Amino acid sequence: MAAQYYFCTECHKKFPTHQKLFDTLYNFQKMAPESCPACGGARELHLSLDFQLGTGDGNFKVVSAHLPDRLESWLGEDEEEVTFYPFLVTLQGADGKQFCWMPYWHVTGKEARYGQHAICLEHGQFESLITQAREKGQKEEEKALELV
Ligand SMILES: [Zn+2]
Repeated sequence: MAAQYYFCTECHKKFPTHQKLFDTLYNFQKMAPESCPACGGARELHLSLDFQLGTGDGNFKVVSAHLPDRLESWLGEDEEEVTFYPFLVTLQGADGKQFCWMPYWHVTGKEARYGQHAICLEHGQFESLITQAREKGQKEEEKALELV
């Protein structure tokens, strides 16, 4: 449902991730993308989504991605452990507008099943995400101020 690639901010090369969206977002929330193998420049994660958020071509830079500090797990069918991964993803369109996107997956063993319906989050989990996003935003603002 989404095409993903890393975009080099220096040489502007695009690199398809060759991963499932779940794995790409999971890795991204753990650490920044590796630098460009061609020029060593910093790389951004971009997503092409097949739904529209306002104006634009559906191509977004992923500003940040977060998971709650504590993930919920339970026993599902066949007594297999199921873990719920509710992401909070901040997307930025070409016009600079930012969106909070909350895709989620149920992971059983090695299978990650994408959730198609609107999310209803436990309050504590939601707070945990908002706090992380706020801190990241403040850090970015401080960085931007240092550059001025
Ligand atoms: Zn490069």
